[in-house]
Amino acid sequence: MPEAPKNTLKPTEYNLAEKNKEALQFIEDVTTNADDVQKRVLSEILSRNAHVEYLQKHGLNGHTDRETFKKTMPVITYEDIQPEISRIANGDKSPILSSQPISEFLTSSGTSGGERKLMPTIEEELDRRSLLYSLLMPVMNQFVPGLDKGKGMYFLFIKAEAKTPGGLVARPVLTSYYKSTHFKDRPYDPYTNYTSPNETILCPDSYQSMYSQLLCGLCQHKEVLRVGAVFASGFIRAIKFLEKHWSLLCHDIRTGTLDPRITDPSVREAVTKILKPDPKLADFIESECGKESWQGIITRLWPNTKYVDVIVTGTMSQYIPTLDYYSNGLPLVCTMYASSECYFGLNLNPLCKPSEVSYTLIPTMAYFEFLPVQRNNGVTNSINVSKSLNEKEQQKLVDLADVRLGQEYELVVTTYAGLYRYRVGDVLRVAAFKNNAPQFNFICRKNVCLSIDSDKTDEVELQNAVKNALAHLVPFDANLAEYTSYADLSISPGHYVLYWELSLKGSTPIPPSVFEDCCLAIEESLNSVYRQGRVSDKSIGPLEIKIVENGTFDKLMDYAISLGASINQYKTPRCVKFAPIVELLNSRVVSSYFSPKCPKWVPGHKQWVQQ
Ligand code: AMP
Repeated sequence: MPEAPKNTLKPTEYNLAEKNKEALQFIEDVTTNADDVQKRVLSEILSRNAHVEYLQKHGLNGHTDRETFKKTMPVITYEDIQPEISRIANGDKSPILSSQPISEFLTSSGTSGGERKLMPTIEEELDRRSLLYSLLMPVMNQFVPGLDKGKGMYFLFIKAEAKTPGGLVARPVLTSYYKSTHFKDRPYDPYTNYTSPNETILCPDSYQSMYSQLLCGLCQHKEVLRVGAVFASGFIRAIKFLEKHWSLLCHDIRTGTLDPRITDPSVREAVTKILKPDPKLADFIESECGKESWQGIITRLWPNTKYVDVIVTGTMSQYIPTLDYYSNGLPLVCTMYASSECYFGLNLNPLCKPSEVSYTLIPTMAYFEFLPVQRNNGVTNSINVSKSLNEKEQQKLVDLADVRLGQEYELVVTTYAGLYRYRVGDVLRVAAFKNNAPQFNFICRKNVCLSIDSDKTDEVELQNAVKNALAHLVPFDANLAEYTSYADLSISPGHYVLYWELSLKGSTPIPPSVFEDCCLAIEESLNSVYRQGRVSDKSIGPLEIKIVENGTFDKLMDYAISLGASINQYKTPRCVKFAPIVELLNSRVVSSYFSPKCPKWVPGHKQWVQQ
């Protein structure tokens, strides 16, 4: 198997050109030999795990070849392995899924039963994640040279973590990565030279972390050559924070003293090393931030910035216009595609338009299979794929090297950490090939209808949440005739809007507080990632219910039919995105109500907290 590039050089011996060349050569090698590499990856995973309970249970009997694997092992979803995951979470250390010890759980933003999914991982996966990160800048350097001459201003954050009853840590994959020695003790590399000291990234208090990262970014504004965050929503949150707090930040820069609200001693110490009294810089920032328009604020405050590094594919594409506005149209660069289950691949043409981004899956990361899909509904951009596959459907899965140009597939992975033929839930389309490895557009995540930040709410969840809220209307003899929903990003943070058409039989008017209770009841019923976004990250605003005039949903149907929908098959979309439809709904709103407070949320799974 091609050797992964190693980063063992000391700063003095650092040879950037050589390292870049090695990384690009690695990509050449693994994409040229994609099929061979995949075959070997599978055989390595299966031979080292030959004796694990899960493979034995399904009768793989130590086979390591693709044919037997495909014939023997089922294609699964999270629910299928939930019993195994629960045993591991409860402390069973026997080799259930992996022969190597499960080092922690990564909490996915995908949910099951309202709770985050728990993805088992093993220590060595950190090396694989680091490998993928190490390929990003050598690729970027081909298009934007000289990035080693300055810094990156990246807003990176950790999130709350919890312990499972068996004592394993459960936390998001990025929190795990930033807390690892791979990140904290990374050897000198001009490409991971960030304006944010590690201490500011690792601060668990989100206000202090954001404030100190912005402060350090402003102090070093001339050195900044690229800016970013993981997802577009996170970057916009930072800009909105700046809008609110720039005068405080300027005060600190003017005086060289750190605001007393920053109480974390390690953050104070790290920031003090960077913060020096600089009245001229404070004047400059004040004059720019004080202007009425914030158009181009990024290029104004960080004038040497060459691009914005954020994911704007998938649901994040909804933020492109806002990013274009703040950055004056700087390139928006999506570098990688990854998940808690596994890091998948990278964008080899990072300066392309967001709509053209394709990710090349790196064949050493995991064994990949692809289930062909047909999307059935262009309006909601969601697909419905049956939960479990029958034998015939299982035979339709193809290998990485066998996917067809233009075809859409659901991604299925077999990982080193012990997931076997696991459906990730993402739909990808083959856009091109790099050597013998396909490059994929990210199309959508299965069934997701609403998303603001990392929350992913599907129609079934929404339906249940609405059903729970309706209990509040019973005393008024009111029924919900129709509803739909919309992710409203026009004010920050974005929020969920539900459009309700009621049929009223009773004569008692419904007081506003009842609709507010409905809003809260919906929020309480939504999954823990949504509630975390509301409570802890503050990345989602209060949910809103808009009551629309009677007959609005008939108008919606008329409109859909005028666009070519069939009358017989018409179903009210439970989520709308198309601007003219949103306008139609908004033009018929008679009243609107917001959730009066945050729903309940605590880190970790409900059942662990109750123990
Ligand atoms: P998580 O389970 O929280 O780790 O989230 C992983 C999911 O985020 C993936 O399965 C995708 O649905 C989404 N995602 C990750 N990277 C990208 C990307 N570059 N573009 C679009 N969606 C992405």
